[in-house]
Amino acid sequence: MIFNRQRFLRTARSMIQRILVTGGAGFLGSHLCERLVSDGHDVICLDNFFTSQKTNVVHLLDKPNFELIRHDITLPIHLEVDQIYNMACPAAPGHYQFNPIKTIKTSVMGSINMLGIAKRCGARILQASTSEVYGDPEQHPQTESYRGSVNPIGIRACYDEGKRVAETLFMDYHRSNNVDVRIVRIFNTYGPRMHPFDGRVVANFIRQALAGDDITIFGDGSQTRSFCYRDDLVEVIIRMMNCDGFIGPVNIGNPHEFTIRQLAEKTIELTGSSSKLIEAPLPADDPTRRRPDIALAKEKLDWEPKIELEQGLKHTIDWFKTINLGDYRPPTP
Ligand code: NAD
Ligand code: UDP
Repeated sequence: MIFNRQRFLRTARSMIQRILVTGGAGFLGSHLCERLVSDGHDVICLDNFFTSQKTNVVHLLDKPNFELIRHDITLPIHLEVDQIYNMACPAAPGHYQFNPIKTIKTSVMGSINMLGIAKRCGARILQASTSEVYGDPEQHPQTESYRGSVNPIGIRACYDEGKRVAETLFMDYHRSNNVDVRIVRIFNTYGPRMHPFDGRVVANFIRQALAGDDITIFGDGSQTRSFCYRDDLVEVIIRMMNCDGFIGPVNIGNPHEFTIRQLAEKTIELTGSSSKLIEAPLPADDPTRRRPDIALAKEKLDWEPKIELEQGLKHTIDWFKTINLGDYRPPTP
């Protein structure tokens, strides 16, 4: 086993790092910033607020070890840091298809800019890659050795292919310039602070159920996804960043697989909603099945998710009940 929790905690406590989190005001990035700030690190959050709002990190602004910079990672920036979590990229289909060319630029030019900082500073850099590199997979569950089945000219390609090129760039900077890289392939992750109008299935279903609106199942609802709660995710990406001798790619996600219809029924049950299920057209290239094989994460990082769907959904529903939907805006160019 490569990850040793005791040693990691001892080292982490004795080593305060300067850490850059790109996309740090987003759903996952803001939780990551929160955890890194509370661990005592000097955290720079860099975001252009394309799909997020300042409110996600407003509670960190008065912390002396937190700094917020409005910046677009497709443009160069000069910073001195020890670690970089490259989280910036719209992640929901509705968000990444809003301006597909910008999405590719964020993955490609953004990665080049961040890898350049890592190379100059000798920083370790982690790429938030995605299960979408497997496309509509022919292998199930998906292992890291599977090379995927992506439609390069489809409407999801701006995201999928952008993330695939980003992985290529990370590996080439590693091989050619000895940059210390880490790659995690994140499967569907949900929780408080996900954008309520991002169009992703968990956000849509909870919002619809709480309002008593029809729940829109795309297709017949037999397609599957495996949902990971945000706390499990934050824990494992920090482990991945701080483990030695293993660069990935590694799948991270919850291996328990649900059909979309089951998710809709569970959401109705937990909200006590009277919403009805209705079918709507299935978007093009929508993957039929998705479930991570997490054997590698278990072996190398001593990690597996702890929070199951029902518990995570309850937390997320509770959070949705507290927010004012009027505070959230659609993505802006
Ligand atoms: P999110 O949309 O909430 O966060 C992305 C953040 O990046 C936002 O704050 C956005 O404003 C920022 N951003 C986008 N383009 C930018 C740019 N050019 N410059 C600077 N900032 C920019 O999404 P999320 O769910 O928190 O996803 C975070 C990362 O994890 C993304 O890279 C995503 O691809 C990856 N990921 C997420 C999931 C998931 O299920 N949540 C699954 C796979 C991969
Ligand atoms: N989906 C759905 N109803 C919705 C939103 C999404 O049935 O209101 C489906 C979508 O077609 C896909 C699954 O839920 O099969 C997950 O979609 P999401 O956009 O959350 O993520 P991704 O497709 O990127 O996994």
